Formats: sequence, structure tokens, C-alpha cells
Amino acid sequence: MKKTPIGHVACPVCDFPDAQVKEDKNSHAYIHCTDCNAQTFTRNEFRNGKLRARMRAVTVAVTGDTVTVTAPVPAMAPPPAADKAPPVKKPGGWFQPLLAQG
Ligand SMILES: [Zn+2]
Repeated sequence: MKKTPIGHVACPVCDFPDAQVKEDKNSHAYIHCTDCNAQTFTRNEFRNGKLRARMRAVTVAVTGDTVTVTAPVPAMAPPPAADKAPPVKKPGGWFQPLLAQG
């Protein structure tokens, strides 16, 4: 039986952005990458919950012609402003004692 995707995530193997998330026979989510064909199984409730929280859920699924529409990727929050000055490098670094010895 062909399984219907329930969501999409980036493939952990090849980083393909639309790897499919499906359910195995125990209703645990797993990743099937349509690009590199890797399968990543969760096998327990903890990892199942983590994957489901991370995936972009399929909102419309038409089986037959397999039309899947996935929720848009949420806009990334802007990175927090850097409030720390970059670390000051000591001149010479770790090899300074070697240079001092000549
Ligand atoms: Zn992949």
C-alpha cells in the first residue's frame, strides 16, 4: 500500500528540503527522502513527537494523482542583535611562546 505523506522536512542525509514524512505501521512518523531515498525511522514516541513538531504538515492531500500541498515555511525570525563584542584575539595566539623562544 502506498503511504500518504503527512508532512515534509529537510532530509537529514542529503539536505533535500522536501523529504516526505510518513507513518509506519506503528503510527510513528518517519522520513522518506525522495531525492536520495534514505529512510529515517523514529521508532518511539519521543522521536516521533520531535519529528512531528519539526515537520511542515501537509494541509491538502489528494490521493490518486498525489497532489500534496504543504503549509508554507514560517518566516524566519531575524537573528538577535549581537550585543557582545567579538572576542579580542591575543597577538600571536597559541604559538606565541614558540615565537618567543625563537
Ligand atoms: Zn535525502
